Amino acid sequence: MNDAAGLFTKLGRITPGDLPSPPEVAIRVMRACANADITSRQLADLVSSDTVLVAELLRVANSPFFGIGREVNSVSQAVVVMGIRSLRNFVLGFSARESLRIGGLPGFDALSYWETVLHRAVSARLLAEMTGVDIDEAFTVGMLQDIGLLSLFLVFPEQAARWERLRGLNPDERHREEQASFGTTHDQVAALLCKSWGLPEELAFPIANHHGDFHDAASLAQLTITRIITCADWIAAVFAATDKRLALARCRKLLGDYFGFNGDTVDQLFAAVPAYVEEVAGALNLSLGPQPSFDEIVGRANRELIETAGQAQDRAPRLEYALAERERLAEELQLAYERLAQLAYYDSLTALVNRRRFDELFSAEIARHSRSGKSLSLVMLDLDHFKKINDSHGHPFGDAVLQSVSGVLKATLRSADVAARIGGEELCLLLPETTVEGGRIAAERVRHAIEKLLFPHERGEVRLTASFGGVTWRCEAQDLQSVRASLRKVPEIMAGIMDSADRMLYLSKKAGRNRLTWADDGLTKKPADPPPRGGRDKV
Ligand code: GH3
Ligand code: MG
Ligand code: MG
Repeated sequence: MNDAAGLFTKLGRITPGDLPSPPEVAIRVMRACANADITSRQLADLVSSDTVLVAELLRVANSPFFGIGREVNSVSQAVVVMGIRSLRNFVLGFSARESLRIGGLPGFDALSYWETVLHRAVSARLLAEMTGVDIDEAFTVGMLQDIGLLSLFLVFPEQAARWERLRGLNPDERHREEQASFGTTHDQVAALLCKSWGLPEELAFPIANHHGDFHDAASLAQLTITRIITCADWIAAVFAATDKRLALARCRKLLGDYFGFNGDTVDQLFAAVPAYVEEVAGALNLSLGPQPSFDEIVGRANRELIETAGQAQDRAPRLEYALAERERLAEELQLAYERLAQLAYYDSLTALVNRRRFDELFSAEIARHSRSGKSLSLVMLDLDHFKKINDSHGHPFGDAVLQSVSGVLKATLRSADVAARIGGEELCLLLPETTVEGGRIAAERVRHAIEKLLFPHERGEVRLTASFGGVTWRCEAQDLQSVRASLRKVPEIMAGIMDSADRMLYLSKKAGRNRLTWADDGLTKKPADPPPRGGRDKV
C-alpha cells in the first residue's frame, strides 16, 4: 500500500472512462470548453454523441435552475443559452448522477460523497459571487477538487468503505489520514489526473494546490480561486464533519484572513448554503433530501460542546492535560502563522504591506465597497528627487529615509487605512470608506508630515518632499444585479483606479512636485456618500 512508485503507476493508468466520474464525455466537454476557438456547433456535436446526455441536457436547460424562461428545443439552442461554463457544470453534475446510478464501488456511500461535493461546489460559487470571481468556474473547481479521492477508491476498491470515516473528518485530518492509508493524497492524485487529462490550468492549479500554501500562485486570480476552494472545503466540513465547532471556527478565521469577512457576512454565507444545495441537487435530480439549516448545525455544535464538557468532568485530570497541550499547540501554530504572514505580506525594508498583499486587500475592498455603495479613495505617492539623495549620501542613507517616511505613513493614517510599498520608492495609500474631502485631508496630512522630516548627516541635514495623486471611487450600481455585474469586474476596476492615481501623480510632478492632484474624471462624480441603501449588504 505504501509503495508510492507502484501506486503512481496504477494511477497513471487510470483513464477518465475508468472513473465513476467524470466519464469520458465529461472530460471531452471540459477540454472543449477550455478551447477558446470552439464553436457552439462543435460543442453541440460533442454532447449529441451521448443520447442520455442529450435528453438530460434538454430537461435541465428547461428547468428553473439553468432555465432562461423560454422553451429550449435543441441541443445547439441549449448550448447557446447555457453558455460554455454552465454547460461544463451541467456535464459534471450529470456524471455525478450517472456514477450513482451505475452503483460504482461496493460499500461506498456515493450519495453522501456527492452531497459533500455539492456543498463544496455551492460554497465556492457563493464565495466567488461575494469576491467578484467567475461563479461558474468556481463551481466547477469546487466540484472537481476532491476527484482525487474518488480515484483512490477506484484503485483501492477495498478501501472505499473508509469514506464513511473520512467524511466525518475535517480537511486537514482527512488529508493526513489519506497520506497514512494510501501513501498519497487527493490533491496530489488530482494534480496527476488534471495533467494526464489535459485539463486547463485555470482548473488544474486550484485543484492541485488547495491544501498547499499556494505561494506558487502565478497570479492574483489563481491565488483567489485557490483560497475560495480551500474555504469551500472547510464550509463543507461544517455540514459534514463530526467536530462542527472546530470546522466553524476555522472557517471564520480563514474567511476573515482571506476575504476580510466579518461574523455577520460569514453567517449569511452559511445560511445560504443548504437551500442552494437543495436547489442544485433538485436541478440535477440527485435525491439528497432536505438539508439541515445552518441554525440546526449550530445547535448540533452547541450540543457537542455541552457533551464534551460533561465527559470532561468524568475524566477531568487527563482531559485537562490534553486540553492544555492542545491549547499550547494551537498557540504555537498561531505564532507560526503570524510569522509566515509577516514574511508573505510585508516588505522587509519598510514593514509596509507589499505589492501582492496590497492587490489582495485592494480587490477585497472594492468588492466590499461595491456591496455597501460607499466611497473608497486611493492615493499614490512618489518621493521627489530621491535619486539625488541616494547619489549624494549613499544607498543605506536612502534606505533609512524610506524607513522614516514609512513610519510617518503608519503614524499619520487611520488604523483601517493601508499603506503599501508598491515599487522602489512608490507608495500607495488605500483609504476605505473615504470621500474626496477625506482623502484630500489625509493625503495633505501625510505630505506635510514628510515635508517636516529632517535627516541629519555629517555635512548638515537633508529634507525631502513627495508628490501625490489621488482618486475616489464609488460603485454607481443601484440594484442587486448591477452590483453583481460590478463584482465580476473587480480587476478592471482596480486597474482603472491605479491608472487614474498614477496619472494624477504625474500631473503633480509636472506641476513642480510636493503637491497633491485629485482625479476629477468621472471616477469621482458624487463626492458625498449617499444614505445607506437597504439590502445591499446582502449581495
Ligand atoms: P522624481 O521626483 O521624478 O520622482 O525623481 P526621482 O529621483 O525620485 O526619480 P525616480 O522616482 O524615477 O527614481 C527612483 C529612485 O529611487 C531610483 C532609486 O535609486 C531609488 N530607490 C528605489 N528603491 C530604493 C530603495 O529600496 N532604497 C534606496 N535607497 N533607494 C531606492
Ligand atoms: Mg521619485
Ligand atoms: Mg519612482
